[in-house]
Amino acid sequence: MKSLRVANPLFTEHSANTIINYKCKAANLRQYCSRFKRKSVVIRSANIKGWCRDCEAPIPAAPQCEACGSYRRIAHPEAAVLSIAHIDCDAFFCSVEKRDNPDLADKPVIVGGGRRGVVAAACYNARVYGVRSAMPMFKALKLCPDAVVIRGNHGAYSYEGRRIKNMMLDLTPLVEPLSIDEAFLDMTGTERLHGAPPALMLMRFQKRVLKEVGVTVSIGLSYNKFLAKTASDLDKPHGFAMLGRADAQDFLADKPVGFIFGVGPSFARTLAKSGIETIKDVRMKTDREMMTLFGESGLRLARLARAEDSRPVKTQRERKSVSAETTFNDDIRDKDPLLDKLWFVSQKTADHAKAKDIAGRVVTLKLKTSDFKTVTRRKTLEQPTQLADIIFKTCEQMLLREPGDKAYRLIGAGLSGLSAPTGDSGDLLDPGAMARAKAERASDKARDKFGKNAVMKGRELKMKSRGMKGAPAAPTHKDAARKSSRSAGMRSIGMKGASAAPEGQKSRGMLKPKTISTPRKRGE
Ligand SMILES: [Mg+2]
Repeated sequence: MKSLRVANPLFTEHSANTIINYKCKAANLRQYCSRFKRKSVVIRSANIKGWCRDCEAPIPAAPQCEACGSYRRIAHPEAAVLSIAHIDCDAFFCSVEKRDNPDLADKPVIVGGGRRGVVAAACYNARVYGVRSAMPMFKALKLCPDAVVIRGNHGAYSYEGRRIKNMMLDLTPLVEPLSIDEAFLDMTGTERLHGAPPALMLMRFQKRVLKEVGVTVSIGLSYNKFLAKTASDLDKPHGFAMLGRADAQDFLADKPVGFIFGVGPSFARTLAKSGIETIKDVRMKTDREMMTLFGESGLRLARLARAEDSRPVKTQRERKSVSAETTFNDDIRDKDPLLDKLWFVSQKTADHAKAKDIAGRVVTLKLKTSDFKTVTRRKTLEQPTQLADIIFKTCEQMLLREPGDKAYRLIGAGLSGLSAPTGDSGDLLDPGAMARAKAERASDKARDKFGKNAVMKGRELKMKSRGMKGAPAAPTHKDAARKSSRSAGMRSIGMKGASAAPEGQKSRGMLKPKTISTPRKRGE
């Protein structure tokens, strides 16, 4: 160990020695240390670029690890100082399915809902055929007819997602979950805690997840969130990529504007009309010009094009909306059955808002036509609400204004412009509003006490008599257990992939699996 000579400011003698000492303490690395001593390897600081992914030895410039001979390594001149990470599980739902059923290992697997649903996740074997998340299932099966389609077990995915998140929390308390299977981590200052720089700890994390959970994760490491997220996409699956201050500018320059997260095809077309096609083109414009041309989005884009992103990693994600939607088994053209479905999603949205103790001023109606065109309509209310009655009535007005000749395959209702609830207020134009609000609160209390089907509205009874999906079943003794599962925070709202679940699937995903103990998700 004494032969270690380090002069690189990016990799100080202290940190290099700390790593080596830490590695000597690790039982699984004793063999490496003895080899290291025997060879009396002098690690020259200028050559240290990273670590071997197999034995974790610091590696010199040579592509091969001197300790174990492996060619697998993570390497970057700034490897010792980068500390903002983005971790993303690879094809998470499919990886869990393949882990539980080894027969699926080499087969193309799609997790998603039935004939009318969409792809919630596609494994890498299926992606070779062009299958992508959120693609309609019929289209996915046309591209890959041999794919194994699995409806999915969202309870199991949530459980594994929480296990992985807990492992992230062993690395740093600053974990910002983005969805069930990805998160940002700020590991600044954790080197003293762990005795190893973030890159090395993340490499160990990657191995731990594979060993304990049985799925692979891809990691991006940089100095801000934008670049970390960009890096994690560079080397999938089971990848580890780093972007440093010195290489970020050049790396981004030739990329198309769509490479920047948040620039969709529509915004990219708008930018192209102004002669902006690559990130280099964005840099040619001043912030003022970008702001004038494209507003706030333009300014954000100008900053990201220069690899500037000052957003901190937040442990509490600010919720921007709550919503619920359902895909029909068959397209619906008539307004009456559409209104029945609308009541169902309005009530679910209200339930989410009440459970989170939030209210929203903006009510959104979402429709998807039979030819897959999405229509959204919004209305801003005088007062924020969390009542199903108001959400329904507002969406109803918007729905009835839509042309009557269209058939729809999906309906959704949402609340945004969120704030703390301010209490129910009357409506001068609707004298019955206050009475209905009181009735809804009273029925909520009854549902809390006796189960969600204890109180039914006329519309729900009508749906039930027609045998429609989404209509509540007759109250059973299981309702109390379901209620406690709901209050344990097992909601699928906002979960990546879940919003695309077909009719009837979301409600299953919201229930806690009976065999698994699932602690409440942090940060919710
Ligand atoms: Mg993922």
